[in-house]
Amino acid sequence: MILTAVCHCGAVRMETSARPLWLTDCNCSLCRRLGALWLHCDPAEVSFPSGEDTTVAYVQGDKTLAMHHCPTCGCTTHWRPRDQGNRMAINARLMETGAIVGLRIRHFDGAETFGFLD
Ligand SMILES: [Zn+2]
Repeated sequence: MILTAVCHCGAVRMETSARPLWLTDCNCSLCRRLGALWLHCDPAEVSFPSGEDTTVAYVQGDKTLAMHHCPTCGCTTHWRPRDQGNRMAINARLMETGAIVGLRIRHFDGAETFGFLD
């Protein structure tokens, strides 16, 4: 099964074969403002049928991550490490609710301890 995430205007489309055990709700200064729900995955498990070259990256703080959004509708789509490390996350809020229903949501303390709160 492939999980599909699409921004509101439809310009950015992502697909992943990842099988997440949970989704992550992070309380860091950026994630809590974005309201994203992260599905972490291996970049090799993600493809962009459309829009990958149109997203806009926001880089802040220690500059380790690039947070991407659609320039047309503003939806936060994904983040990637700037060092090309073997990790990324896509915003599960862009998925149909039925695709992720029942998945556990873990609260991550990105603001202070950098550990899960559960
Ligand atoms: Zn869009």
